[in-house]
Amino acid sequence: MTDLRLPTNTIVKPDKDRFLHEENPFEGMMSRFDKAADLLDLEPGLYKVLRKPEKQIIVACPTMMDNGEIEVFTGIRVLYNTSRGPAKGGIRFDMNVTLDEVTALAAWMTWKCAVVNVPFGGAKGGVICDPLRMSAGELERLTRRYTAGIINTLGPDSDVPAPDVNTNERVMAWIMDTYSMHKNHTVTAVVTGKPVEMGGSLGRREATGRGCMFVTKEALAHLGMTVKGTTVAVQGFGNVGSISARLLAREGCKIVAVSDRTGGVYNASGLDVDDVINWVKHHKTLEGYAKGESITNDELLTLDVDVLLPAALENVITTKNAPKVRAKIICEGANGPTTAGADAILEEKGVFVIPDILANAGGVTVSYFEWVQDRMGYFWQESEVNARLEEKMVASFNELCHYAEKHNVDTRTAAYMLAIDRVAYDTRMRGIYA
Ligand code: NAD
Repeated sequence: MTDLRLPTNTIVKPDKDRFLHEENPFEGMMSRFDKAADLLDLEPGLYKVLRKPEKQIIVACPTMMDNGEIEVFTGIRVLYNTSRGPAKGGIRFDMNVTLDEVTALAAWMTWKCAVVNVPFGGAKGGVICDPLRMSAGELERLTRRYTAGIINTLGPDSDVPAPDVNTNERVMAWIMDTYSMHKNHTVTAVVTGKPVEMGGSLGRREATGRGCMFVTKEALAHLGMTVKGTTVAVQGFGNVGSISARLLAREGCKIVAVSDRTGGVYNASGLDVDDVINWVKHHKTLEGYAKGESITNDELLTLDVDVLLPAALENVITTKNAPKVRAKIICEGANGPTTAGADAILEEKGVFVIPDILANAGGVTVSYFEWVQDRMGYFWQESEVNARLEEKMVASFNELCHYAEKHNVDTRTAAYMLAIDRVAYDTRMRGIYA
């Protein structure tokens, strides 16, 4: 009789090519997964389980457009791994959404939730559409139809979406409402990132930047550096970048440079971050802000500063500019700002990297708090949310450092090892239903 079992004595990487080309941040993420899995000496069967998404859903979303015609959009939801709890991850509306990208982002969420030890698995979703060319009514109808399409997966105990690229608290409110209509009662805990007035959490909007501030302070202490007077350069001045900059300045750091898509501004004496935020509020971008010298985004990355905080795009620190990076600490506010190739160069130079899956996990941590508060039906003061966030981020940072020392690996590898170790432990203890 033919033996149809897969070989279990060697690790097979069947989906390697699905994760796109080498410089792609998602490929970078999976190559780091492989490195960590090798170091953890994962059993081959378990490796195969953790490298495959649990569930991929593709739904057609017929939507009535304002002109009376029906358009059919494609919606995707991927649950990567739920061994530690309900799947958690954002929903994006974008023309570039693909199943591969959503799958990779869902894996990323799995490791991020595990590294901060919140009881969630990882998920991601997306709808292929151009939201900037759609009316609010069209977006609402699309959101509701997409929600109906994936409703059997959604739920506070199974899959909890959040905002992501081109979605916001309004979209979350529509998802919550649609889900609640189908369940015949209001279920606030089915999504996070909701408006505060209807079950959202105080502190959620600032959570990612606040988390970056907490781990940066921990890294400074870890390296024996003082917070006061520490020089910081921040790339990207949106939600994460501007809030990180403002909170670090409040702690006594000197924010010497910030940038956005229009370029950057440098002031060796330190920028007045509130003034810069005010400028951007009125002018939309940093362009024209005159209280400093103009610099390019590339120049910002190689400034002689203590802390570099990339909070804009992926793949900005590469093998090309990593040799020129002069910062002592990199706090990765953005997802995937450093390529896998640049990791080795930064390690060689002794740069202390706070990896993205920890550095920007403040957002998902407060999403977890929002879910907890919704389930309790009791809401915390903002000070309590912030204090609990600090406790989580500080504990996770310390666990990461201990893990890195114990296994004699860099912080990025340690973050992946710690995350995969946790997911692997739960999977092993539960047993593989195979
Ligand atoms: P945002 O849209 O609010 O801000 C993005 C900023 O980056 C803007 O200032 C924009 O001008 C700037 N930018 C865009 N292109 C640029 C370029 N080529 N060079 C320099 N700057 C450029 O986005 P955000 O929510 O602050 O997210 C930033 C990063 O953080 C993303 O990688 C995101 O995935 C990640 N992140 C965000 C959160 C969150 O809660 N917002 C959580 C985790 C990770």
